This record gives sequence, structure tokens and C-alpha cells, in this order.
Amino acid sequence: MSYFLATRALRAGSLLARARSFTANPSESIASEEIRSNAATTDPLAAAPGETFRACDLEVQRSNHGLSLPEDLTKLSFGHDFAPHQLSVQWSSDRGWGRPVVKAIEDITLHPSAPVFHYGLGCFEGMKAYASECKEGDVLMFRPEMNMERLRFSMGRLNLPSFDTSELLGCLKRLLKEDNDFVPRAPGYSLYLRPFAIGTNAFLGVAPATECEIRVITCPVGPYYPTGLVPIDLLLDEDHVRAFPGGTGQYKVGGNYAPTLEHLHRAKDFGCKQVLYTIPGAAAVLGGARGGSRYISECGAMNMFFLLENGKTGVRELVTPPLDGTILGGVTRDSILQLCREWDEFVVSERMISVEEIQTHARGGTLVEVFGSGTACVVQPVSSLIRENGERLETRKGLRKKDKVSERAYKALTDIQYGRIHHPWSESIY
Ligand SMILES: *Cc1c(COP(=O)(O)O)cnc(C)c1O
Repeated sequence: MSYFLATRALRAGSLLARARSFTANPSESIASEEIRSNAATTDPLAAAPGETFRACDLEVQRSNHGLSLPEDLTKLSFGHDFAPHQLSVQWSSDRGWGRPVVKAIEDITLHPSAPVFHYGLGCFEGMKAYASECKEGDVLMFRPEMNMERLRFSMGRLNLPSFDTSELLGCLKRLLKEDNDFVPRAPGYSLYLRPFAIGTNAFLGVAPATECEIRVITCPVGPYYPTGLVPIDLLLDEDHVRAFPGGTGQYKVGGNYAPTLEHLHRAKDFGCKQVLYTIPGAAAVLGGARGGSRYISECGAMNMFFLLENGKTGVRELVTPPLDGTILGGVTRDSILQLCREWDEFVVSERMISVEEIQTHARGGTLVEVFGSGTACVVQPVSSLIRENGERLETRKGLRKKDKVSERAYKALTDIQYGRIHHPWSESIY
């Protein structure tokens, strides 16, 4: 396989913009380029409330940043290094959506009463852009419409305004074209995209936002697995819930994540990097009972899969909890389900799975595989679930790599993401 390292992306010398270096130079914009398809439109900012913004109205204020990827890509550090441009679109209840702008990444200045600071009026997305391995210079996104739709869905739950998702995708592609050189062209690398939306108006009451903003910032990132998939242990949390029926588990709203950090910290005491949440069965919730059956939910930012074997018949079943409102509907989850259904080699089920059921399989040696799924890792194999009493629920040892569903799904998805095979899930920005 050949990659395009050092051909165009890697100009020597300057490093990427570190977050802190950006505050100093707000006036770096030198060029203003308008790409309006219809120059005759009178007031492009005045979209009526309820309307959408349009990608054809997007304005580019190019930043003369002089930045480039580091020559040594291993210096990239997730979430610290940002590409120079961002996308911003603002909305207000009287003027509707304004014109989308691509401009230099910069700090956000808001009044301290803005609802994002007090009531969690914020939601986000996580997606990636990949340098194509079959067409030099091309940049691919993986099922990006799903992320756009999920952002709109999360914003709706926070009573933030709607928009046309294909228009946001158009704006995103324009941002990626501007920072094309920051999509690292090396195996396993990508440009991580972080769209988010926040309530921004100056008012301290608990009320729907009258102003909001969608922004997209991007960070070049290295491979999640530099040397192949590495399994981890998860702390099985049988006390707390991440989400509950009728709550917000299916939305990527900030309020779902802050309360998980303390548990994440506790997981470290058990040698675990992540927490696997469980949820009491409906009966236990209604009866206020403690000690009833608990069902698997998901990790703080990963959906979960369990490959079970029937001890008598040998029939295998891949189980993931259903999208009942408590589970975030992952793009990776959906893709793995579709792939496995196409393979048609084992039963694929979206159903509740209790801790007891997993315990029975672990004790009987029929818990074949456990893995998580998400954009960052694609799949994350799990070797054991650790209970707080120290009990380990272990998956089967000694499987061959080529037989593992986790390995196969990882390969199938990354082949699509990097354009090694053509597939409708992969979408070029050009
Ligand atoms: C983002 C996220 C996932 C993974 O979703 P993908 O679309 O596959 O990246 C899973 N669970 C939670 C709670 C998440 O926030």
C-alpha cells in the first residue's frame, strides 16, 4: 500500500495551532471570499425563523495562519491540536439563521448568563474525515448525514432550532476543503470533526434559548490502535445509571457526560479505562426495588456488543441493547449491525441483555466476544467485565484473529472509511 506522506500535507517547520496560541491573534483573517451562487439576493442574513441556512451562502474568511501538520505526525495529540479554520452559523429567534462562515478558529465570547453555562444547553457530534488511500488528495467522510441528523435531533431535545441537514453537510465539506492539508495522509490517521451547538443569549432564566450557534472545529488525530486492536477491561457499574426511560440517553447532549466523569475516575481503581453502565429492569424501577435484575446499557461513549454461544446447539447470537431511548444510536453500531446481518453467519439481535445472562455465559465459557463501538475506536474489544465485588466476567480466550467478529468488523469498516473499497457509506468532500 502506498500513502502520500510528505507529499503535500507535510510542510516543514511550523506546528499546528495549539489551542492556547489562538487567543492572541484574532485579526489574522486576510481574505474574504464569497461563494454565493446568487449574488443578487438582497439580505442573506435575514432568513426567517424556522428556515434553514444554506451552504451556498457560506462566506470564507481565510486565515493566513502559516500553520501545517507537524513533520513528525506522532507528535499529534488528540484534542490538543486543531486545524486552523472553523465553521460557525448563528441563529436568533427574531432573525433566524445567519450566513454560515468559515474563519480562523478563535475563542468564544459570551455573556456569563448564557444558558450553555448554567443549564447544559449544549450538544455535540463526533465524526471523522479520512484521506482516501485510493485517490490522492481526496477526503472521505463516513455516513456523514447520520451525524448531521443526530445533531439536529439532539438540538431539538434542547429546544434549539432546526435546519436542513444537507446544508450543514455542504458547509462542513467547504470547511474540509479549506483545511484539506490538515487531513493527515498516513495509515490510521484522520481529521476528527467536532460539530456542536450551544445556547448563547444573555439571560439567566430557565427558558428556551433565543440565540444559538452551531460550530465545527477539527483536530488531526493519530491511529487509535497504532499496533492492532488492544482489548481492555470495563468496570461493570451496577449502582448508577447513565440514562433512564424517558430521559436523554439517545441524545448527544452535554448533560449526559459530565456526571460520568466521577465514575470514570473510580474505574481506574479497578484498572479499567471505562465504565459499562447498567439499568434496572422496568419492574425494579416501578417497584423501587434494589437488587433486581439489571440490564446492560452502554459505556460513556461506546455502544456494546456481546457474542454469545448456545452451549447445547453451538448457535451464536450477537446482541446489542435496543434503541429504546436510553441508548445513543451510534453510527458505528448501526453499521456493525448492517454488516453482520449481511454476513448472515449468526443471529443478530437488538434486545435487552441482563447482567445474569452475561454472568451465566461467562461462567459457562460461552461469552465468546464483547466489544464496544464508536467513531474514535471503531471497535474496542473487551477481555473482562469487572464487578465491584472483584468478580471478573471473562470472554473466551484464544480465539483466532481472523475468526473474531470485532476484528472483522474493524477491517470491513476501516476499508470503507479509507476508500480501500468502494461503498455508498463513504462520501467524498469533492
Ligand atoms: C457518540 C457515542 C457513541 C458512539 O456513536 P458513534 O456514532 O458510533 O460514534 C456511543 N455511545 C455514546 C453514549 C456516545 O456519546
